Amino acid sequence: MTTLLKNRRRIFYDAWESAAEPTRERVISRKLEEYVRYAARHVPFYRDRLSKFDPGAPHPLLEVPPLASGEMRRLLPPDSRRLLADKTGRYTVFQSGGTTGRPKTTLFSHEELENLYLPNARGFHATGLSSRDRVCNLFAVGGLYMTFLHIHRMLQQYGCMNFPFSNHTPVDFIHTVVKLFDVNCIAGIASVALNCLRGMEKLGLKGIRIDKFYYGGEHLYEADKKELRERFGVRLIAAPGYGTVDSWYIGYQCLYCPTGVFHAHDDQCYLEIVDEETGLACAPLETGMIYATAFPRRLTPIVRYRVGDRAQWIGRPCPCGRTTPLFRLLGRGDDILRIGFDSVDYEYIQQAVGRIRGLSGTVQMQKARTRGRDRLILRVESPAARREHARLGQALVDQVCSGRPTLRRAVSEKTIWPVTVELLEPGSLPTNPRTGKLIRVIDAIE
Ligand SMILES: [Zn+2]
Repeated sequence: MTTLLKNRRRIFYDAWESAAEPTRERVISRKLEEYVRYAARHVPFYRDRLSKFDPGAPHPLLEVPPLASGEMRRLLPPDSRRLLADKTGRYTVFQSGGTTGRPKTTLFSHEELENLYLPNARGFHATGLSSRDRVCNLFAVGGLYMTFLHIHRMLQQYGCMNFPFSNHTPVDFIHTVVKLFDVNCIAGIASVALNCLRGMEKLGLKGIRIDKFYYGGEHLYEADKKELRERFGVRLIAAPGYGTVDSWYIGYQCLYCPTGVFHAHDDQCYLEIVDEETGLACAPLETGMIYATAFPRRLTPIVRYRVGDRAQWIGRPCPCGRTTPLFRLLGRGDDILRIGFDSVDYEYIQQAVGRIRGLSGTVQMQKARTRGRDRLILRVESPAARREHARLGQALVDQVCSGRPTLRRAVSEKTIWPVTVELLEPGSLPTNPRTGKLIRVIDAIE
């Protein structure tokens, strides 16, 4: 069973991570061509769309229309089976997104699920997991969620001591087990894993030492990382994998990657970052939307899927020595609120919060519209005493406005309402009841 670690090559998990540029180009172009031909041969939907594929061009998929999430839904069960290359029904049905009622599904053949071992092993190895680690798996399970299942499988194959708690176990039980088994590592959706540590702190951290924190599913911001290091003594904080159930694993961090920066799994996914205004491929440091073509997805070929996240190529090699290129993930395209004439990004608010001591990184932003004017409301959890709240709130308003002249001017010209800050007790911001993810952005209902 414990074969994953034995398979690794010296420093990096596998040879692809340090392959030379000519090899990388040759292999990627061969894989892409084979995959596009496979999709066109097995799925009639792709036949016309892929006629614009140009294998000799620098960006061979540029003329192929992107596949939007809504369009893909209509090609998959329960709506239809048009995206299926094999209709024998040997697959696992997962849901994509925390919706209720009629599920948005994604299908993995059993073989495809097994093949997730490679990106998993690469990512966890690059972020310092060792077979001696004792790991809590707090990822979401049940309700057709996927991540818990393959992380569980990977931990077994990697040879770690494995604790399959999921996101449903009460924190007092986790606290007891962590103590009894000397668990040193937590893996889960960022806010679930962080809240678990905060809950354990209330029960007492004597005899508990979590030194590795692996997260996924959402960003973990600098303010959160600071809290993990300073309050809980966590030594290593990283995201071993970035991907979506609709596509595949797209990137992974190494120990040199700052928040939001990932190496591309570019032998797994053909990754494009596209400027949707011009339709052109982005140069390094230009922001665009991520399109992924997922080579291992054979049951439902995924060509040029519009992932819905924005990103930039970094354009520099990583100091770790891996040759898989770096990109910076900038969050969902919809993590932005239009306040007056300003577009306020969740990332920007997180940076402002991170500069103020006493505020945690658990933050929600909301746009409200009253009497024809917009208002930006920021809700921030803080462990600080009540008497500190007014001062901290004002400091955040100042910090947010100081970097945004458009917002500041709109407030002084009374075209928008002043920014409001509400400070809340830790654990009070609402989360998605199914996944435990923080509800970060709420737009005004027009
Ligand atoms: Zn690296």
